[in-house]
Amino acid sequence: MAKKEFKAESKRLLEMMINSIYTQKEIFLRELISNASDAIDKIYYRALTDDSLVFDKDNYFIKIKADKASRTLTISDTGIGMTAEELENHLGVIAKSGSLAFKKENEAKDGHNIIGQFGVGFYSAFMVADVVTVVSKALGSDQAYKWESEGADGYTIVPCEKDSVGTDVILKIKENGEEESYDEYLEEYRLKAIVKKYSDFIRYPIKMDVTKS
Ligand code: ADP
Ligand code: MG
Repeated sequence: MAKKEFKAESKRLLEMMINSIYTQKEIFLRELISNASDAIDKIYYRALTDDSLVFDKDNYFIKIKADKASRTLTISDTGIGMTAEELENHLGVIAKSGSLAFKKENEAKDGHNIIGQFGVGFYSAFMVADVVTVVSKALGSDQAYKWESEGADGYTIVPCEKDSVGTDVILKIKENGEEESYDEYLEEYRLKAIVKKYSDFIRYPIKMDVTKS
């Protein structure tokens, strides 16, 4: 498939994320965990009204897997997943341009610390990753799809294999720069600390698996 361009507003936010004007890069993990949790909530709420769907809580969790050899960090969930259309519509554009406008307005009033309090969303992954891959299979769908982007110049969506319903967000963690270190986002102690700091309230289990190089 030909590479598609991000919509204008999305492109601007994406560029901000890539050039990471934000000092708290670690919040990317909070954003991805919160999306994973929202996706599981969606199954939970659907099960309340859909008798054919049973929510057995043992089957619903979030998993963080770091692989130092491949420099990948994967955040997986057993949530509702996304169809090809949803990958296109939800990851190709800013879902809530309203919250972006709100952020801009308040940033002006309040200095720049507001970023710590508000959801900056999926694109914050680009603060620590130079390639982001999302493999997802939607509830009720037989086909999985892979969304992939190296940043501002667009994204692709292609069919792929995935056994179970849910989403894997795979981050290719950036190489260390002269001033910036990214290795820490593959370290178990660091990931645990970030999860504890921002995601303690998440009501689904967060499992962790770290593979040494
Ligand atoms: P927000 O969470 O504020 O809506 P995000 O940028 O974090 O904004 O995510 C955009 C949208 O992408 C979400 O609203 C959701 O529809 C979809 N999405 C992101 N991550 C997942 C996921 N793990 N599972 C299912 N849908 C997701
Ligand atoms: Mg979100």
